Amino acid sequence: MQQIVPGLWLFDEIGDTVHAYLWEWAGGLPLIDTGHPKDGPIILAALRKRGYALHNVRRIILTHADVDHSGGLAQLKQATGAKVACHAAEKEFVERPWRRQPVWFLRPLLAVAALAPAFQPRSGSPDELLLDGQELPEGFTVIHTPGHTPGHISLLHKEQRFLITGDAMSNRKGKLRDPIFLFTPDKVNARRSIWKLAKKYGDDFETVVFGHGPPILQNGAKRIKGLASQMMSTDV
Ligand SMILES: [Zn+2]
Repeated sequence: MQQIVPGLWLFDEIGDTVHAYLWEWAGGLPLIDTGHPKDGPIILAALRKRGYALHNVRRIILTHADVDHSGGLAQLKQATGAKVACHAAEKEFVERPWRRQPVWFLRPLLAVAALAPAFQPRSGSPDELLLDGQELPEGFTVIHTPGHTPGHISLLHKEQRFLITGDAMSNRKGKLRDPIFLFTPDKVNARRSIWKLAKKYGDDFETVVFGHGPPILQNGAKRIKGLASQMMSTDV
């Protein structure tokens, strides 16, 4: 596990294709996302290795239901007894992940890929449904950032000044980008969501961590504002 800012841990044990996080605070050890199906046991082993009591993982917050973020959910929920939280609009995709559709020409490919256990969508059952602007006891503000999926959320910790974007954007090859279009059916809303993060919350954080790509430790909000204004200028 790698500490990004005090209390925010990245599970680097699961590799680099997707990220899952632990937020260590006085009230427990919430997880944010759970990696691919193969990553559930790896995350559990990492928690045990650092001496964390699994029953202190009381909440698992999903940024969205895609298999690379919710794949480890069933195993982690079972091992910890945690409650699962996601945005209200994401509930149906957590329960019925096969309803999630990428662009049409990828669908046959994904149907074949889903036969492999590593990419097989796993259904789960959320215990708590979150809404935009909701303040969580862990210190997070829930920010609804739809586009990549309908109920996608980002999580802002105002006090510690960090933002967990999920897949509202990614940091690929040293550059901030809007989410990969092949898996983002609603590109207009995806861009609005980036604009929202920049405009509404752009003074509230410094560090940014992503579902995909390395963290930005400093000037994260400035970088997101830059992406937002770049998008605006290319749109007109
Ligand atoms: Zn992803």
